[in-house]
Amino acid sequence: MKIHALATGKVQVKRSFLYPGHGPRRQLNLFLPGPWADSLPIHCWAIEHHGVLRLVDTGETAAARNVPFARMEVTRDQELPAAMAAADLALDDVSEVVLTHAHGDHIDGTVHVRARVLMNEAELRFVAKPSSGVMRRLLRQPLPSGFAPEPLVLDGGPFGAFPRSRPISDDGRIVAVDTPGHTPGHVSVICIDDSGNHVMLAGDTTDSLEQLHSLRVDAVAPKPDVHVATMRTILAHCAQHPTVYLPSHDPESAARLAEAVTSST
Ligand SMILES: [Zn+2]
Repeated sequence: MKIHALATGKVQVKRSFLYPGHGPRRQLNLFLPGPWADSLPIHCWAIEHHGVLRLVDTGETAAARNVPFARMEVTRDQELPAAMAAADLALDDVSEVVLTHAHGDHIDGTVHVRARVLMNEAELRFVAKPSSGVMRRLLRQPLPSGFAPEPLVLDGGPFGAFPRSRPISDDGRIVAVDTPGHTPGHVSVICIDDSGNHVMLAGDTTDSLEQLHSLRVDAVAPKPDVHVATMRTILAHCAQHPTVYLPSHDPESAARLAEAVTSST
């Protein structure tokens, strides 16, 4: 199995996005003037396993608009096709895409993809709600054209500490697990690498490993309790299995992946 970190440009977010206040200020501060943090990478991931190439998320495109709390720094030559070419991979070889959640910096790159695209049925239901449509219009974040993922049903029973999961590969070494919080139907993908480590492609479950250890609720989670419960589940999983935790926007994720591969060979 080989896992590649792909980068489709960067995003700069307000400090209040990374270190939210409490109560109503948690979300309100996002829309008020405030300092900005350093730019973060927008990662997505390619997994080569038994001759099959899969993607987890598809990154952002240059067409993305800024929102009051995030500025996109993506050029055409940083989009998915170029990010894959930089890893010596070809889009035409991709057979399947799993999306962690329906935010633009994870799904906009689907415009480049012809393979089948899967997203948690709970996330699809959330996207279809009228209130989600209103938010997309207010923030000027339309779904990418032709966006029609197939529903992924997490009916595979528990996996480690996660109560709900679904094998993605036939041999069960690539598994989607339920990680609600950042969005209601957010999933992560765990790969059991050749040395038995669990490599967790964590989407936006947290922005960093530090946030996970701090159990700090993010600024956009609709239900803070659900987000904290997921972070506790991830930590419980990490205590059961050696796990390399790779959030999409953690500046340390690519190095952590590279180190995990080096130390196991
Ligand atoms: Zn994101």
